[in-house]
Amino acid sequence: MERLRLKIVQAGEPVLRAPARELTVEEILSPEMRNLVELMRETMHDAPGVGLAAPQIGMSLRLAVIEDRPEYHRSLDPAALAVRERAPVPFHVLFNPKITARSDDTVAFYEGCLSVAGFSALVPRARRVTVEYLDETAAPQRLEAAGWYARILQHEIDHLDGHLYLERMDPATFSTVENLTRYSNPAKPPK
Ligand code: ZN
Repeated sequence: MERLRLKIVQAGEPVLRAPARELTVEEILSPEMRNLVELMRETMHDAPGVGLAAPQIGMSLRLAVIEDRPEYHRSLDPAALAVRERAPVPFHVLFNPKITARSDDTVAFYEGCLSVAGFSALVPRARRVTVEYLDETAAPQRLEAAGWYARILQHEIDHLDGHLYLERMDPATFSTVENLTRYSNPAKPPK
């Protein structure tokens, strides 16, 4: 059976720059919402990505899905995972998420965005954040995250406010993913 996939809009699409609207409890609990979350999960897996916010599929709603699968880590150097404080994060959905606290210490790593396809840049982000949101049962939740998970949360919640990493990055580091791979590993000669 063919899997359904949503189109991920690219930078320049006005929906990516508009502050998204909050969802009501009724909307969160509706069958349509369950269907939308499932489509977003499939679309995120297919991309593949570790997060997807509703504006990226053209819907100006405060909703994001996140999942950092163990299989994404297999090809990565354990030292690189450790320095990024990157560990698997199970699938979950956040409705109306808000960052209520962020640490003063920041860390900068290369990140990318499914809506800025093919590019990457160094982006400084708070190392730790506290996020309050509603889960899929519309129950209020509060989570504390550090490292890569904290980065994903900041990236996705930025989308809901109409921000892309482009205005957070160190502009001199902006690179195609291809060039990043080519030049960031001098041990590996270019093809
Ligand atoms: Zn993004």
